[in-house]
Amino acid sequence: MPDTSHRGPVPRASVMKIAPYVPGKSQASGVDPKSGKVFKLSSNENPLGPSPRALAALQDAPRLEDYPDGSSTRLRQAIANAHGLNPARIVCGSGSDEILSLLAYAYLGPGDEAIYSEHGFLVYKIAILAAGAEPVVVPERDYTAEVDAIVAAVTAKTKVVFLANPNNPTGTYIPFDEVKRLHAALRPDILLVLDAAYAEYVRRNDYESGLELVANSANVVMTRTFSKIFGLANLRLGWCFGPEGVIDAINRIRGPFNVNGAALAAGEAAITDTDHVARSVIHNEDWLKRMTKGCEALGLKVTPSVGNFVLVHFPQTAQHSAEQADNFLQARGCVVRRVSAYGLPNALRITIGTEQANLAVLAAFKEFLSK
Ligand SMILES: *Cc1c(COP(=O)(O)O)cnc(C)c1O
Repeated sequence: MPDTSHRGPVPRASVMKIAPYVPGKSQASGVDPKSGKVFKLSSNENPLGPSPRALAALQDAPRLEDYPDGSSTRLRQAIANAHGLNPARIVCGSGSDEILSLLAYAYLGPGDEAIYSEHGFLVYKIAILAAGAEPVVVPERDYTAEVDAIVAAVTAKTKVVFLANPNNPTGTYIPFDEVKRLHAALRPDILLVLDAAYAEYVRRNDYESGLELVANSANVVMTRTFSKIFGLANLRLGWCFGPEGVIDAINRIRGPFNVNGAALAAGEAAITDTDHVARSVIHNEDWLKRMTKGCEALGLKVTPSVGNFVLVHFPQTAQHSAEQADNFLQARGCVVRRVSAYGLPNALRITIGTEQANLAVLAAFKEFLSK
């Protein structure tokens, strides 16, 4: 027997294929966080923060020595009430990232394929590889997922299709008719995962998050999050609505206490605060337009976004590249997201922030492009 004791434990080969997720920066290098104002526009957080109701709920701290409710019963009921759903068809998770991973573990293994689109959310690739399956990446048109391309990529090995609608980092979406067309073209044994992390922000008549499709089919699941419009990213809270079989599968493999008590309490309070959501939407609507127009007026291309962020494209010149722009912004305290890992080396993703932050970005771009 060969002696392998010197090598130590070896992870599965698919694990070592994963490029670790690099989160958006939270500090600006070169800016003293004490003296200089830093605007964090790198992770699509809500500039208005969480609902005051969520903050109030956190004042009644849960007894830290007690385990939380492992079935998230009250929170699932609150989500069900808010959306008119059956609470038995909801599972809560430690962020929707956890739910995406659980879906991959439950439905994918070595030899299987899972599809996502060219500039799709990178957590899908990590979840697919972690489950030992093969990621299949399909081209987009105008930074938008294309149903025909997804359908053309389906093989006998395909088990899951991940679609972020709207997508991060592009901000684009496909209309509900297109989602239905995609669903109709998939075999019933393929799971369609609709990631609707930004659903609350979308103001388009032809958009639907997927609730109806989930309710009426056995192979569609929709994921949602409290990290974006609800402003609770730090607590890690997400949920999914799915068919009985999918809910049963992920309930079998999730951690028995996967959502902490603070997140449960804050989430339950936050989802009832429709005024806070409405205020956040209004702020976003206004500034999404102003940021888009402001960047375009400076000669920058902006991909039309329905989310709470914009994808801004830079010329491929050494002087005005996305990397140079990022450095320039950082030195002025504006922390935005490089998106090279998404196949977008010449673009930056900028979260819609407070008025002050947005104006700081536009002023910095103006100065940057004039030099
Ligand atoms: C932010 C985001 C998520 C949610 O992440 P959480 O784990 O719930 O914080 C999911 N999908 C997309 C596309 C996102 O941008």
